[in-house]
Amino acid sequence: MSTAKPESYKSTCSYCGVGCGIIVNKDNKGRTTVEGDPNHPVNRGMLCSKGMNLHYVVEDKSDRLQYPQMRWGKSHPLERVDWDTGLNRAAAVFKSIIKKHGPDAVAFYVSGQCLTEEYYLVNKLTKGYLKTNNIDTNSRLCMSSAVMGYIKTLGEDSVPIAYEDIELADCFLVAGANPAWCHPILWRRVEKHKEENPDTKIIVVDPRVTQSCSLADLHLQLNPGTDETLYLAIGRCLIENGDIDMDFIQNHSDGFDAYKELVMETTLESAAATCGVPAEDIQLAASYIGDAKGFLSLWAMGLNQSAEGVNKNLALIDLNLITGHIGKPGSGPFSLTGQPNAMGGREVGGMATLLASHRNLLNPEHRQEVADFWGVDSLPDQPGKTATQIFEGLEDGSIKALWIICTNPLVSMPDARRVEAAMKKAKFVVVQDISAKAEAIPHADLVLPAAGWGEKEGTMTNSERRISYLNKFTDAPGEALPDAEILLRFAKKMNYSGFDFPSMAEVYAEYCQLTKGTNIDISGLDYDYLKSNGTVQWPFTDKNKGGTVRLFTDKKFYTPNGRAQILANGPRNKTELLSEDYPLILTTGRIRDQWHTMTRTGKVAKLNKHIPSPFLEIHPEDAASRNINDGETVLISGKRGEVRVHAQVTTKIKKGVVFLPMHWGKILQNDFPRTNNLTGNGIDPVSKQPDFKFSTVQVAKYVKP
Ligand code: SF4
Repeated sequence: MSTAKPESYKSTCSYCGVGCGIIVNKDNKGRTTVEGDPNHPVNRGMLCSKGMNLHYVVEDKSDRLQYPQMRWGKSHPLERVDWDTGLNRAAAVFKSIIKKHGPDAVAFYVSGQCLTEEYYLVNKLTKGYLKTNNIDTNSRLCMSSAVMGYIKTLGEDSVPIAYEDIELADCFLVAGANPAWCHPILWRRVEKHKEENPDTKIIVVDPRVTQSCSLADLHLQLNPGTDETLYLAIGRCLIENGDIDMDFIQNHSDGFDAYKELVMETTLESAAATCGVPAEDIQLAASYIGDAKGFLSLWAMGLNQSAEGVNKNLALIDLNLITGHIGKPGSGPFSLTGQPNAMGGREVGGMATLLASHRNLLNPEHRQEVADFWGVDSLPDQPGKTATQIFEGLEDGSIKALWIICTNPLVSMPDARRVEAAMKKAKFVVVQDISAKAEAIPHADLVLPAAGWGEKEGTMTNSERRISYLNKFTDAPGEALPDAEILLRFAKKMNYSGFDFPSMAEVYAEYCQLTKGTNIDISGLDYDYLKSNGTVQWPFTDKNKGGTVRLFTDKKFYTPNGRAQILANGPRNKTELLSEDYPLILTTGRIRDQWHTMTRTGKVAKLNKHIPSPFLEIHPEDAASRNINDGETVLISGKRGEVRVHAQVTTKIKKGVVFLPMHWGKILQNDFPRTNNLTGNGIDPVSKQPDFKFSTVQVAKYVKP
């Protein structure tokens, strides 16, 4: 029976950072379907398997949190309470802890899936009003090394390219990324471009043979952790071949002489031995880049999730700088963001080490500008605790209260058992989530139900600086509220002024004004413009209506002297050393049809069919020496824990290396232990990003006790 008029809404996919445009259709019974927006500049109507199944996640509310719940004491069960009771308690506990132990005794841990408005509010709340910079995000786990790579070389965290550069490039270096599975629609564009232009060269650098390799002209299957040596060796070849841009080097950059000296320290043969790839393949990669008119370097977690992630970023970005491939069509360094709004979070300063609109947290004038804008005296002057440091703070007692929003740290953080133990020491934990299955809930003193995708409005920014408006098209279940609304209510309970926003449009308008005069100025933007005109790439000002496709076209960079910085450091030691007990390198990553810790994609039967259970990729020789056959259950043990999965014996992985997908937690999937029981605490000293790509383990056939 017909009950309502069919309706259509525009939105943006809530999974990866590609940011595909979606049209949501609701039929006259209120049932939802989704399709790719044919007019969207990102995906031109295409959607990948995750995006085209989003409606199942929207419609299935069976596992959703619907009401606030609270524990009256640590040993008490969670009980349903009303919003006022829950938030009054949160405010009372936060006030008491701050009074007794100071503001740095509390922390917020949020997510690259938060909308920009939510990110903005939680930053204003913590940095401006709670007076702590202890606000970090799970984006710390995926792209903080890229943020620092850009800041150090280009002056600010500014992705210089646009997706339309894909169709203008004739050489791609895909480094530590598997976009065919993890950024599928972007990769479809690369595939189509290669089909139409067969001379386009694609180089893939990865210790595994991934789906992306099927399009590659050259696969450099390097030893894990040796990326920096490889890019420096390619740099040396480019210099020796004369394939560098001396005009750019001399007139628009600094640091080339020191870079040249460093790359000349290592011979091609020695680099080839370190990386485990043929010297002639390094030469071939250099010749592809040297011959290119448009050269794009694409990278993701393989570089970022490393104890030397920033150095790896620098070494890769240097290849674009020494060849002058930046600020022109088809060229540039292009970090792929994993989460849908990791970029929006970076823009509003949504990390313990950042300040809004690319201002510098360590600069007193910048802090005062933001403080004045927010109407507060000052902002804390030292960086706050980053993701891993927050949980260390719980462990050592320096952090007493933690508020987790839209992320699942007991599955996604490295050394997950340590994180679990740390959570048990917390005086007060708030878990604000959509899913009743979030693994942190058993540790929560207060559980707050949040609205999900499509149940609230707001904006996000994708990997190419493109801002989209997301429509609300359905109601949240029960009493669940948008994350922004929860934060506004909490701020009021804390008696803070500055949080009286009649609508999300007003929150966004305030953030846009804070960007005025900065290099990411969007002060001319508002919801009305986005709703009427679609997406835009920042910066976007009154003078620059329509946004900015490509940055640095004038070769003026955001560094103090306006010149790009060619920077490189020699490779350092890895997080862990191989030993007799743990002779294999474990690297972790994603699979095609799952997202993060599976709280959404794990609900979709169609997506679970692709790869239904966790597995360990192991090379045939490593398997044979351990008497392991394909499909058998194996026990993977490391210094921090164990994981039990079935073996996938394959030459797709290098000998001496094993691979586990990162998605499976212990509650969702029949008690399969978490992959992150095995990963370690090594972090990059500059970006504080954890290393998920180099842990040492042993593997044995599993024998039932
Ligand atoms: Fe969504 Fe990313 Fe797939 Fe596009 S490529 S549909 S943004 S998951």
